[in-house]
Amino acid sequence: MAEPYGKLIAHQDAAAVEAACQAMGLSSTQFAELASRVAAAKATAYCPYSQFRVGTTLLAADGETYISGANVENAAYPVGTCAERVAMGRAVTDGFREFKAVAVATDISPPASSCGMCRQFMREFCALSTPILMFDKNGDFMVLTMGQLLPQSFGPENLPPPPPLTGIKGK
Ligand SMILES: [Zn+2]
Repeated sequence: MAEPYGKLIAHQDAAAVEAACQAMGLSSTQFAELASRVAAAKATAYCPYSQFRVGTTLLAADGETYISGANVENAAYPVGTCAERVAMGRAVTDGFREFKAVAVATDISPPASSCGMCRQFMREFCALSTPILMFDKNGDFMVLTMGQLLPQSFGPENLPPPPPLTGIKGK
């Protein structure tokens, strides 16, 4: 596995952060935006049952649009939704369907990675090379690509093309 993927990078280690940014194809500004926005997103979590806050911030393919979300729990526990799916659902319905990077933040260390359902959900809209940045409680982070998080995955290109939607207003 090529550096810097799969190892914890201290946010104070400027050289390591810079190397990670280069490997991910992100500018230092984009990285800093992701880091601060995902921390802010985490603070918006609605998690009265687990108290496990998760934030997600997506950087759209345009390189300048950031879309955030957080986990939203429910008294009927399985109904709750993870931060990744909240953010990506929001992005997709806002017209953003390709992403340059995904950041996820939690309050633990080492950082948590996305659950299986979210990996599949993100796979629909992320290239296998898309970096997923996982921030821990200290702001340190680990990066894995979409393909590393979900190997041998099933995606849209594995299905035959669907028939066009017809007879629906606005289509
Ligand atoms: Zn999830």
